[in-house]
Amino acid sequence: MTDLTALDIASTVRAVRARALGPTELVRAFLARVESQDPGLGAFLRVDAEGALATARALESRDDLDALPLAGVVLAVKDCLCTRGLRTTCGSRMLERWVPPYDAHVVARLRASGAIVLGKTNMDEFAMGSSTENSAFFPTRNPRDPSRVPGGSSGGSAVAVAARMAQGALGTDTGGSVRQPAALTGVVGFKPTYGRVSRYGLVAFASSLDVVSPFGGSVGDVAAVYEAIAGHDPRDGTSASLPVEPVLLPEGPEVLRGLRVGVPREYFSEGLDDVVRARVESALDALQRAGAVLVPLSMPHTRYAVAAYYVLATAEASANLARYDGVRYGLRVEGRHLKDLYGATRDRGFGPEVKRRILLGTFALSAGYQQAFYGRAQRARAHLREDFRQTFAQVDVVATPTSPTVAFPLGQRVDDPVAMYQADVCTLPASLAGVPALSLPVGESPSGLPVGLQLLAPHFAEARLLRVARGVEALGLR
Ligand code: GLN
Repeated sequence: MTDLTALDIASTVRAVRARALGPTELVRAFLARVESQDPGLGAFLRVDAEGALATARALESRDDLDALPLAGVVLAVKDCLCTRGLRTTCGSRMLERWVPPYDAHVVARLRASGAIVLGKTNMDEFAMGSSTENSAFFPTRNPRDPSRVPGGSSGGSAVAVAARMAQGALGTDTGGSVRQPAALTGVVGFKPTYGRVSRYGLVAFASSLDVVSPFGGSVGDVAAVYEAIAGHDPRDGTSASLPVEPVLLPEGPEVLRGLRVGVPREYFSEGLDDVVRARVESALDALQRAGAVLVPLSMPHTRYAVAAYYVLATAEASANLARYDGVRYGLRVEGRHLKDLYGATRDRGFGPEVKRRILLGTFALSAGYQQAFYGRAQRARAHLREDFRQTFAQVDVVATPTSPTVAFPLGQRVDDPVAMYQADVCTLPASLAGVPALSLPVGESPSGLPVGLQLLAPHFAEARLLRVARGVEALGLR
C-alpha cells in the first residue's frame, strides 16, 4: 500500500477530485503519523482530530471539488494564526487559554480552498527566537537529529512538514522564521513580499515585518499554498491591492539558462560554516552549468541588518505587546491595585526572551534615545532597501546561504542571545527590505544535516522567484 503521507499536494488534489482518495482516509493516515512521530519531536501544540475529520467528511459530500484548489490537502498552522474555536497560544502562557472567535484571513482562505487544518504548531513565544526553544510549553526537535533544534520561530510547522505529519504548513516570517527553520529541517520555506498576504488574524509581533509564509516538501507545494493565501484584504491596511500573478512552474531547469544571478559577497564572509559554504558554492556551480550567469556583487549595508532589525522589531513588539495587560486578553493575575494587576500578569505571562525584547524596545523608543536608536535603524533600513533596488537593476534574482550554520544542538545558544540573533544574518536583509525570499534544500553536511539555498527577488516578483526555485529544485541537488 502506498504511504499516503508521502503524497505531494498536486497528486492529492487530483486523487481527491477523482474520488480515488477519500479525505477521511487521508486525515486518518496523518493522525496515525502524528501519533507515531510527534511524541519524540514536539511539532504540534494541539491536534484537532475532531475538526479535521469533520472537515474531511464534509468535503466527501460536496460535488464541487473541482472548484477547490486544495481539495483534501492536510495542513498545519502556526499557533500565532487565529483559528476560530481552536486555542491560539502564540507559544505563550499569556494566551494559554485564549480561544479566538474568528479565523485569520489566511486560515479562512485555506478552508475555502478545501484544505483541512490538522492542528496548531509549536513556536518560539510570540515568534521571538530562532530555535523554538523559547516556547513556553516545550521545545521542538529536528527530525534529522533530535538532539538538535529545528530552527525557529516556526519550528513546529517546519518539523510537521519535514516529518511528513502534514503536507504543508503556515508559518510566519518576520526576520527569517520560515526560511531559517526550512533550511535547518530540509524543506522549502517561502516568504512572500511584505503586503502580499493579509496579516488579519495574525497575532502581531513586529507589524512592519510580519509575513505569513508557507512551508512545503517541494516548490510546487509551497506555490500551491501561496496561491491560496495571497491577495488583497481590506482588513489589513498594509495589504497590497496588486493582482496576484498566476504561478506556472516549469518541469525542468531550462528557466536557469541565461538567468542573471547576483551573488553578494557580504553573505559569504566570516561566520559562515565551512559545510554551508561548500554546499552553497556547489549549488551555485550547478546553476552556472545549467546556464545561469553568476554576477558577483556587493550589498554594502548588509552588515547593519542585525542591529537595525533588533531595534525595529523590539520597538514594534514593545508597542504590540502592551495590549496584554490582564484586562482584555488572555491571562489575568489579580493584584491589590490596577498597577499590581498589570505587573503580575505581565511577569507571569511572558517568558524571559519576550521580556528582554519589551525592555530593549521600550528603551529604544524612550524620550531622548529615539533618534539615536529607532531613527538610525530606520535609516539603515532605507539603505538596505536601496541595496536591493540597485542589485535588482543588474540581476534577476540573488542567491545566498539561508543560515550561516546547520542545525545546532538544543541548549547551545539559549544563554547567549547575541549568538542566537546571529542565526538570522542571512535572512534579515530581505525582511527589512520587504522583498520575497525562499529557502530550498541543496544538500547536506557529512552527518546528514540539511543546508538551504536562499533565493531573493524584487518586490512582488513571487512568480519569477518560484519558477527559478523550481528550476534549481529540478537540478536534484538535495
Ligand atoms: N529569529 C528572529 C527573531 O527572533 C526572527 C523571528 C521571526 O521571524 N519571527 O526575532
